[in-house]
Amino acid sequence: MERILNYINGELVEPISKNYLDNIDPSRGKVYGEIPDSDERDVQLATQAAKTAFPTWAATSREERSRLMLKVANLIDANLEKLAKAESKDNGKPVKLATRVDIPRASSNFRFFATAILHESTEAHQTDGLAFNYTERSPLGVAGCISPWNLPLYLFTWKIAPALAAGNTVVAKPSEITPMTAFLLSELCIEAGLPKGVLNIVHGLGPKVGQAISEHPDIPLISFTGGTATGKQIAATAAPMFKKLSLELGGKNPNIIFADCNFEEALKTTVHSSFANQGQICLCGSRVFIERPIYEKFKQALIAKTNALKVGDPADEHSNLGAVVSEGHMKKVLSYIELAKSEGGIVLAGGKQVVLESELSEGYYIQPTIIEGLSFDCRTNQEEIFGPVITLTPFDTEEEVLAMANSTQYGLAATLWTSNLNRAHSVSSQLNSGIVWVNCWLLRDLRTPFGGVKNSGVGREGGWDALQFFSQKKNVCIKL
Ligand code: NAD
Repeated sequence: MERILNYINGELVEPISKNYLDNIDPSRGKVYGEIPDSDERDVQLATQAAKTAFPTWAATSREERSRLMLKVANLIDANLEKLAKAESKDNGKPVKLATRVDIPRASSNFRFFATAILHESTEAHQTDGLAFNYTERSPLGVAGCISPWNLPLYLFTWKIAPALAAGNTVVAKPSEITPMTAFLLSELCIEAGLPKGVLNIVHGLGPKVGQAISEHPDIPLISFTGGTATGKQIAATAAPMFKKLSLELGGKNPNIIFADCNFEEALKTTVHSSFANQGQICLCGSRVFIERPIYEKFKQALIAKTNALKVGDPADEHSNLGAVVSEGHMKKVLSYIELAKSEGGIVLAGGKQVVLESELSEGYYIQPTIIEGLSFDCRTNQEEIFGPVITLTPFDTEEEVLAMANSTQYGLAATLWTSNLNRAHSVSSQLNSGIVWVNCWLLRDLRTPFGGVKNSGVGREGGWDALQFFSQKKNVCIKL
């Protein structure tokens, strides 16, 4: 049994309750570890530690903050294999994916913000010879960071790194479903010599630990990534306290394929944008719209490529898909496939649970699934499934596809395939979405604003947006 601990005031500690939750390996459907079942008392300890550490950390030079954060980044790189295996075991994702994407991105997050603060400058405004204004930026205090299970260390560090770089101290909560790499990160922070109390990690359930963070009066800002319903709950708690909020929520992303696209590129990337990480990336394109002249050809090619994907042991180099994250999530995804059928959908590929051999036989595996024949406004095409399930819909005109693409409550990311430059600009601009990828998917530049519109969230992460979120501005006006 691998028992993990909270990281509070520089030490690895047991929860005050001394209670633990099961940690399940989704590839086997078996308990393999224990997670602290923390509560508001642990959050109180962590917040007190962060509050005490704040004045010194805020006054620490940028060079020193940067040096310590780079040390953490280097330690993440040095432990790549261990972290990737741990991420895979906790989440069910292929080790290959964690090695190539999740863990390298976690160290990039630290490195990016550790170096960004060295190049930051602030604004000044001259007022017609009457006055000179300058804008001071300072950290706010203790930042609350709450993250989900799909890209555990990747998204956890995406919040922690800018918060620390900007001079805040942090109380963070990873998902209770995938807490292992956050725990390993706390060990690396101790090894790096991060001063005590600067980063605190409290493990446990959302309604206990997450709620205690969002309602704590000494935590003036919350950065949250997760489901829209949870975001609503956090906003309801935090808004009357006038907390600063950054909410990265759900998506139901359109993937629009015009007949003039580069067919092979669009095909290859669509397989990836549909099923990477078992479809459990908030940026996955789950509604695939294909222009009618290539609909049949694209559909057949996509079915062939999808049927060739291997669902298997996450540790196996040849597996394209591993397990979905939990039994509950597997049941939810399978229930959406049933819903799609009842709404008139035809399953073209997959559609079923996969039962693997021997010790993997109780794992949570689902075939990559393609469904067609549904109306754009049915529940299957409006609600987030967050699994390896996509729908195909033909379209005839730009107006028609834009209306369908923009019809959901979400607006996180969209993908567009065309070789017509004018159309690329015009359709991108009309898509109701925080991010548009043209002729690519998930090509990330950490300087760009990242976030959604409508019920996909409030605020932007990435680059200066993140550093600004974790700072407050003061204007000083000096009469000349
Ligand atoms: P979730 O909302 O269930 O949980 C996210 C985190 O919030 C977890 O740490 C959880 O413990 C915590 N939490 C739960 N209840 C809480 C409460 N009352 N107060 C405070 N915290 C609470 O989401 P999930 O199932 O872990 O993740 C999947 C969701 O995340 C999907 O909807 C997906 O689209 C979304 N997501 C969005 C982005 C993005 O960048 N927009 C990225 C990844 C995932």
